Parts: sequence; structure tokens; C-alpha cells
Amino acid sequence: MTIRAVIADLDGCVYVGDRPLEGVAEAISVLRRMGVKVLFMTNNATKKPEDYASKLRSMGVEASPKDILTSGVIAASYIKEAWGPSRVMVVGSRALEEVLEEFGHIRVTSNADVVVAGLDFDFNYAKLRDASREVRRGARFVATNTDATVPVEHDVLPGAGSIVKAIEVASGVKPIVVGKPSKIALREAMRRLKVKPSEVVVVGDRVETDVKMGKRLKCTTVLVLTGVTSTKDLGSLPRRLRPDFVIESLKNLPELLAEA
Ligand SMILES: [Mg+2]
Repeated sequence: MTIRAVIADLDGCVYVGDRPLEGVAEAISVLRRMGVKVLFMTNNATKKPEDYASKLRSMGVEASPKDILTSGVIAASYIKEAWGPSRVMVVGSRALEEVLEEFGHIRVTSNADVVVAGLDFDFNYAKLRDASREVRRGARFVATNTDATVPVEHDVLPGAGSIVKAIEVASGVKPIVVGKPSKIALREAMRRLKVKPSEVVVVGDRVETDVKMGKRLKCTTVLVLTGVTSTKDLGSLPRRLRPDFVIESLKNLPELLAEA
């Protein structure tokens, strides 16, 4: 196989929380020396690409904001592409609001063209009421992702999916989901990388997002065991979610690509 690009997940793959995974920074520079482009993709829209870039650099991984695709950036780009600069109501983080504004969208609290929902640590009844009212009135409904939970150190928090579901139930409208595992996310990544699905490896620690997305366009899929999935989960995986390769860590990816 001719692999020209790697789309890598961040949490559970490059680092776990604030802890860098051993050998991964080196592996990423080896991949780049092999001529493989690396793009990082995360469903977490509560931080901006520049925040992730500086986090990565602090861990010894060479990265600039354009190397990182968050679900917030994908949402902003998708909305612009589909409907042009729009009036957006945001249920989400400050980072999501800023990213949407950087793409030329205008933030509004009524008469929105689009309601964008993601993880919002200040979510409340008034936000649910206003967002569902706008959607019922005819605004488009875009979700950054539908992850049910967010694992943090020693705890599991409700994720964007829990908030998105509340708006869905209240409005009776299903959202357009732009983050992993959607094809929208993968297409945006490939457009940036200027590659075809057959030239791409999607690597991550979650089968329901990373592997599932890669399989949708028949990319090569690689699961790492440094995050939420362990060896004992593999036996019970349905066929449609079985990754092409399972490796201990992202640090083993250059070796895998050199052999394949
Ligand atoms: Mg992950």
C-alpha cells in the first residue's frame, strides 16, 4: 500500500490527558521523514487548533494550527461551504464561538440560520429552550460530535452527545453531525491533505469514532491500545468495526507502514 498521510487522533493516541505517550513524538517525526503527512483530528471543540498546537509542541511534537482539525473547525468550514457565512446560535464553548467567527459566521441569539451544538460546560435549561426553539422554527441543526461521554482523569463527564440529544429531543430534529465518525470530518481532512482514501491511514484509540470513520471511505484503519480500547475488547468487536491493524501504540506506526 502507498500511504501518503496519517490522520491521527489526539487523546488516547498521542497523549492521555496531559501525559505525553512515550515514543510518540519521535514516531511522528519518523513518519514525516518518511514523507508521510500527519494531520491531527479531535472531536473536542472546547479548545482551538492553536491551543492543541502549543500543547503538542510542549510534548516535543512539531505542530502548527493548520495541522489540527477540531470538530469546531470542521463545523465552521462545513457551514460556510454548505450555506455560506451564516447567522449561528452556539451551544458550546468559547473556543467554538471564536472558531465560527474566524470563518466569517455571525453569532446571534435569535433568528439563527444554524444552531451549532457541542460540549458546553455551562449548558442549562434556557440554552436548551432557545436552541430547540430556533431549530423548530427552521434553523439548520449542526452537532460538532455525538460522543456520549468525555473521559477525564479519575472521572467520566457527559459529552457533547448528551447535550445534542437534549436539543434533538426537544426540537424533534436530528442534527447533521460533522465530527468523527462522520464522512464530513474525513472528507475535510482529506481535502486539506490533498490525498485519496486509499492513501490514508486513520489511527486512534476508539473504534466507534476513529475506526468507524476510516472504514466509511475505506481508508486503512489502525487501532492503538494506549487509550480507551484494550485487548480484551477486541474479541467482541462486530466485523464492521474491526480495524485493519492493531498496534500497542502510535510509536509502532512507522514500523507497521515500513513493513506493509
Ligand atoms: Mg481518542
